[in-house]
Amino acid sequence: MRIILLGPPGAGKGTQAAGIVDKYKIPHISTGDIFRKNIKEGTDLGKKAKEYMDQGLLVPDELTVGLVTDRITQDDCKNGFMLDGFPRNVSQAQHLDTFLKETNIALDKVVNIEVDKEILVGRAVGRRICKSCGATYHVEFNSPKEDGICDVCQGELYQRADDNEETVSKRIQVYLDETKPLVDYYSSQGIIANINGQQSIEKVFEDIVNALGCEK
Ligand code: AMP
Repeated sequence: MRIILLGPPGAGKGTQAAGIVDKYKIPHISTGDIFRKNIKEGTDLGKKAKEYMDQGLLVPDELTVGLVTDRITQDDCKNGFMLDGFPRNVSQAQHLDTFLKETNIALDKVVNIEVDKEILVGRAVGRRICKSCGATYHVEFNSPKEDGICDVCQGELYQRADDNEETVSKRIQVYLDETKPLVDYYSSQGIIANINGQQSIEKVFEDIVNALGCEK
C-alpha cells in the first residue's frame, strides 16, 4: 500500500498516521519528523530547515524532495509506505510523480483529511507529543490520563515549537495557498479519498480504512 496523507495543520494527520502504519505495516515517512530530528541533532540540514519552520514557511524543495525519494528507495519501502507532510506543493508532487514513473511505482491512494479552517488553530495549539514514542494528544480533545505524561510509555509530553498561535496561523495560510491545490491535482488522477476529519478519532480511522480497503 502506497499512501499520501494530506490535510491542513491540526487535521489529525499525526494521530491517524500512527494507526495506518500499524494496520498496514508500512513505514511512516514524515518530512516534518525528519526535519525535527535533524534540528535536534544539529545537522546542517536541521539548521537550514529551522529557519523556515520557525516562521511557518515551507522548507525549500531542493532540501526536501531528495530526502523523500532517497527514503522511498530503501528496502523497507518495497511493499509500501505512507508519506505524511509530503508533497506540500504542486512542484513537489510533480517531482514525486516523475520519480515514481521512473521507478515503476504507483500510488494507491491519497487520503485527504478535511477540517474547517476555523477550528484548526485550536487543534494545533493544543497538541502535545510524547518525547519518547511520538504519540500525540490534545489538551482538551484527547488528553492523557496523567497531565503531561504519555499513556503509552510514560514519556514526557512536549509542545512543538511551531505549534504557537502565530506560527500555526501562518502554516494554515501556507497550506491554503500551496498545499490545498494538491487536492485538485490528485482528484484529477482519480486516487483521492476525502475524509471528514471532524468526527471522533475512531470514526475518522474507520473511514480511512474503508477508503483504503484491506489490501496490504
Ligand atoms: P509537519 O510536521 O508536517 O507539520 O511540518 C512541520 C514543518 O516542517 C512545516 O511547517 C514546514 O516548515 C516543514 N516541512 C515539512 N514537510 C515539508 C515539505 N514537504 N516541504 C517543505 N517544508 C516541509
